[in-house]
Amino acid sequence: MSTNVLVTRPSLPPMDEYINEIKDLWENYWITNMGEKHQLLQSQLKSYLQTDHIELMVNGHMSLELTLQAMKLQGEVITTPYTFVSTTHAIVRSGLTPIFCDIDPDTYTMDVEKIESLITDDTSAILPVHVYGNVCNIEEIEKIASKYDLKVIYDACHSFGETYKGKGVGSYGNASCFSFHATKVFHSIEGGAVCYREPELGKRLEYLKNFGIDGPESVLYIGANAKMNEFSAAMGICNLRHIEQEIEKRKHIDHRYKSHLEGVKGIKLRQEDPNVLYNYAYFPAVFESEFGATRNEVFDALAQEGIEARKYFYPIANSLECYRRRFDVSETPNALHLSNHILTLPIYSDLAVEEVDHICEIILKLQGKRLL
Ligand SMILES: *Cc1c(COP(=O)(O)O)cnc(C)c1O
Repeated sequence: MSTNVLVTRPSLPPMDEYINEIKDLWENYWITNMGEKHQLLQSQLKSYLQTDHIELMVNGHMSLELTLQAMKLQGEVITTPYTFVSTTHAIVRSGLTPIFCDIDPDTYTMDVEKIESLITDDTSAILPVHVYGNVCNIEEIEKIASKYDLKVIYDACHSFGETYKGKGVGSYGNASCFSFHATKVFHSIEGGAVCYREPELGKRLEYLKNFGIDGPESVLYIGANAKMNEFSAAMGICNLRHIEQEIEKRKHIDHRYKSHLEGVKGIKLRQEDPNVLYNYAYFPAVFESEFGATRNEVFDALAQEGIEARKYFYPIANSLECYRRRFDVSETPNALHLSNHILTLPIYSDLAVEEVDHICEIILKLQGKRLL
């Protein structure tokens, strides 16, 4: 057994494959600014993600920020506190006010029953998160959005490659933002993309990701720099060739965990939605009081054996130092409860099943049980 198991590990293509992919860069000297690799990856992802329109970005965060800005939103955006801080930051850094909606206790995505009561005259959009790859209640969100004429931007950073009712998750809503960070299921070292519905949005995203520049002597918008470089795009091209095996291996690990932990008193695991084809990006496990050991005790027991699980997401976004005093966490009790009981267990394609067994053994030992 290896001494250290991290919660995740980036997958890398065979080194020769990557070297081969970047060779042309020494011939044409075009290493960023929407070069050939950028264009190729963009078109490959367009088809892989089953979307009509896509714009590559430097990372997931800028995908979110620039989408909000390209839509020229104002006022309030209804979102979830149960997410990576990037979601909240993107809203605030775009001059908008996040309004936190609590989550559904079973899917951990935005509780659609609670959205309408948060809508005011200032609401301009809804920004839900397909957290852990659990797809949001898309139908209800679309209904509410069209009733109140709101934009829907999905933070799809956890749901690369997933489908809902046979369609790519990125094809829902006005836009969906993906992250290709090293720790995600698919990565380009750092990277991201926006899948979107209205073609005009793409035009604005193109400007905003390149300083708003229209020509050598013309700058039309106050843009940022969010371009993906050629080395990143080349990594994406290589990784995309292996994505199916990557997800298949993760699925195997997910099922191995479930074979040991499913049905254990006090442990709550994800119940799969038959409409979703999952990517197995994360393995969240909830340790409720009936389990007999707290989340922190499980975390510590694993850490003692060199296994790094993650309290993901703890603390929740509306309780972070930078947002303290601005929001009231008691307004989102389900999110607060989950953040105090959740642990994401190690999962990556090359994680050995023996390690999974070992991890489960440590967990079950806390309850005085042994692996079957
Ligand atoms: C990773 C992630 C982001 C940010 O993406 P980066 O590529 O790291 O900028 C945003 N939201 C969620 C839910 C994420 O997991």
